[in-house]
Parts: sequence; structure tokens; C-alpha cells
Amino acid sequence: MRMARWSARLLCYNYDVVYRPGSENCIADCLSRLPLSADQDACADSEPEFVAMLSAALTAVSPADFASASSSCPELSALRLQLMNGFPRSSAALPENLRPYFRLREEFSVQHDYVFRGSRLVVPVSLRHQLIILAHEGHQGNVRTKQRLRDLYWWPGMDDQVTQHVKGCQLCQSCDKTALPAAAPLVPVPFPSLPWEKVAIDVVGPFETAVWDCRYAITMVDYHSKWPEVGFAASVTSETVISFLSSVFSRFGNPQTVVSDNGSQFTSAEFAAFLRSRDIKHIRTSVYHPAANGAVERFHRVLKSCIQGAILEKKSWRQTVTNFLQVYRSTPHSTTEVSPCELLLGRKMRTRLHVLLPDPQDSAVTRLADSVAAKQNKMKLYTDKRRGARVPTFQEGECVRVRKPTHVLKSHPRFSEPLRVMKQLAPGTYLLEDGRKWHASRLAHSNIPAKKGFESPALDLLHVDTPDVVQPNTAAQAPVITGRVRRPPRWLEDYVK
Ligand SMILES: [Zn+2]
Repeated sequence: MRMARWSARLLCYNYDVVYRPGSENCIADCLSRLPLSADQDACADSEPEFVAMLSAALTAVSPADFASASSSCPELSALRLQLMNGFPRSSAALPENLRPYFRLREEFSVQHDYVFRGSRLVVPVSLRHQLIILAHEGHQGNVRTKQRLRDLYWWPGMDDQVTQHVKGCQLCQSCDKTALPAAAPLVPVPFPSLPWEKVAIDVVGPFETAVWDCRYAITMVDYHSKWPEVGFAASVTSETVISFLSSVFSRFGNPQTVVSDNGSQFTSAEFAAFLRSRDIKHIRTSVYHPAANGAVERFHRVLKSCIQGAILEKKSWRQTVTNFLQVYRSTPHSTTEVSPCELLLGRKMRTRLHVLLPDPQDSAVTRLADSVAAKQNKMKLYTDKRRGARVPTFQEGECVRVRKPTHVLKSHPRFSEPLRVMKQLAPGTYLLEDGRKWHASRLAHSNIPAKKGFESPALDLLHVDTPDVVQPNTAAQAPVITGRVRRPPRWLEDYVK
């Protein structure tokens, strides 16, 4: 049987069989003869299974709850204290509950009430169980549940607790995973270098128990990021598939290649014309080897478990699958070890598992923010230079004139009498001898020295804060209260009235 499968797979090649003794065949046999000790977890979950039970009763942990739980947690309080005072030389000198932290003592940092190990939050005892439940949302397997948690959180014994929880999960138990057929030997598919370069599309169904418009599911998976898309339909014609694809492509753009099987929806002239009009290459998997479209076939198993869960829970399929897709897209994928969202959209997705905002560090978003800031700065420098914009500076004791802040009649000067600068209050703000504060952009250097002693300005200066009122011709008509003789400014002496 196995030989028959191999020969069927090799049918499309021209080849010669050459015998090479094992002692000479050092490359091919090296790995199989020196197997690594198998990682139990990784094996158990290398094909992640999902059962969707996305309970709306699960609530996310708010930052406030987290902070208060963190500050009131005796274990974390002791840890914070220990971090501040420094760890002893040996873990034996530590209280029992702090010993697991000893080995990692260099990795912790404290910020307000939060304790971090590297960039991961250390979770207070009271919230650990809740976070495991949140991470197990969607009933992904042991490894994927751990991956979701490890991305954000840490506490001593986290992995064991997650394993225990998943083992004891009733819903996971009821969908017996060990009954699944053994996985066929993997045929590695060349990994496309960019997201959305090559996508796989397929159709699942008909589902006998579905409502009429969910009898079929059209599925699509991006080979690079593993981002999945699912659309339900009552029937699958080329038309429904094209409408599904147009909708997805409207969000993410046209891929270069679409891989599908030989279903009639994908072999029609209509479908070919649609792809041609968008310059998309179509690859059809071999008739005898449907598993070549592995990316999407594998997702189907996950999707079917999710639908099974929806049936068990008597929930709407669409809603369950939609919620499940968010979880799937935000969980690191076992092949890429990065979430589909990060690979496709370049940022982490905020989910109910997040207490703090996803760390944008080193993401495409930060790089974008940096480049936008750099561009804005460049634009500012250029524009300022072009407009000759600058904030003038003045020395204490220097004489300046103040430009009247509001509209003045043409017959009146725009500047006040010279005044002495008393003090610089802030960059760009000066206190003048009349006791008023002005922004430097309102001031101009004066070559004429200020008069000895301060006189209230001959021109009515309206303070920046006062409303836009201009008092007409105050120099001549203003009532003299102090009895002081008012003179027009010297630069008006030759002005003929
Ligand atoms: Zn479960």
C-alpha cells in the first residue's frame, strides 16, 4: 500500500533508481538515525485541533483588575520587595513561594504594580486560572493554549497548569482527538516569501445538519501567514466562489497564485476568466493527490471541530466561526511561530486575553510611526526654512517694540514705544518693563533706547488676552488720569496732521 502510494506520487516524474548503501548515504539518513528526543507537547499538537466553545460569559481582565490583583497578591508583593532589596546568594534563604523565581532573578523588572519577566507580565496568583481559561478559549490544544499565554504572560509552573487544565477540559475530552487518523508523511510546500502571495481555496460540505445558508463553507488560507477566511453559502457555484474571493481580495488585495482542487467551481470558464482579469495564476492540485493542498485541508479539520462544537453548544455557526477566526488569527501558528495577524497585517491583534495593549515594539507599526515622524520633521524644517520662520531672541535690558496685537487704523503706528526687556520667562516669552508678558513673535528689536523710567505706553496696547477692541486715537483723546503730559512718540515728530 505504501509502495503503491509512492509510485503514484512519482508517476509525474522521470527518474532513475540508484542503490546506495547506507554507509555511503550519509546525508539522507543522518537525521532519521539521530532522532531528537521527541517533545511530547509538540507531537501531541503538531496538528492542532479545535473545538469551538466560545463562551460569551468569559470576560477579559481589565488593566485595573490586573493592577489591583497584582498589588494585593502576597506572592508578587514579596517578589517586588525582594527585587528591590536584591536576591540572596542562595535560593535556600528565600521563602518557599519565591524559590521558583530565584533562577530567573535577572530577568524581572517592576513597573508600578506590574512585575515583568522580560516583556511578559508576571500574573498574580488570583488571576492565573482565569487567564488559562481565556487562553483556552476556542478549545485549541495544549500547545496552542500555552503559546497564546507565553506570548504575554508568565508565572512559575504555568505550562504544567495549562496541561492540567486542558487534560481536564470536558469539551476537549468529549471530542476525542486520539480517534483522528494518523497523519500522513508531510510533504513540505515551498514557503512563499511574502504574505498573500499564494493562497489556497477549497470548499467544505455539504453539512447535513446546517441551516440552509450554511450548507457549504468556502475556505481560504494564505500560505505565508496562515491567515484563514471562511464564507458560508447555500450552494457553491463559480458565482458564489467569485463573490467570496472578490470580497476577500477587496480587503487584502489580489494574490499572485491561487491553489485549488479540481472541483467544478474551480474548473469553470467563469472562474478562469475572473482570475485572468486580476492576473492571478491558478494552480490545480493533481487529481489523485488532493493532500497537496495541505494548507487548507488541514485548516478544514480545525474548522470542522469548531462547527462540531457549535452543534454541541447549539450556537449559531456563523457567530461561532467568526469568534473562532479571531482566536485563530491571533494565535502563533505552529509552523511560523507567529500569529497570522502579525504576519499579514504587521501588528498584534488585541484580544480578550490582553491586559495591556499589544506591545508595538519592533513591529511594522513602530517603524511606520518613526518614518512618519521623520517625514513630518523634514517637512517642518523645509517649510520653516522656506518661510524664514524663526522665533527671535532678546537679551535682558534690550529695547524692543511691541506689534499691536489687533487691527489698527492706518493712521496709527503698528508698534509701541520702545520698552525694555526685564526678563525671559520661558523660551519665546518675555516680561517687559510695563509688566506685561509677550511672545517673542510680537516683539521687534528697537534701535531707539527706551525712555528713562517706565511710562504707560502712549499707544494703547491691547494685551493678548483682551478682546479685539481698538480704541480710537487714544493719544489725543484719552482722559489724562495721572496728570502726566502725553507726547506722541518721537518717530512721529515729523508727522503732519
Ligand atoms: Zn477545552
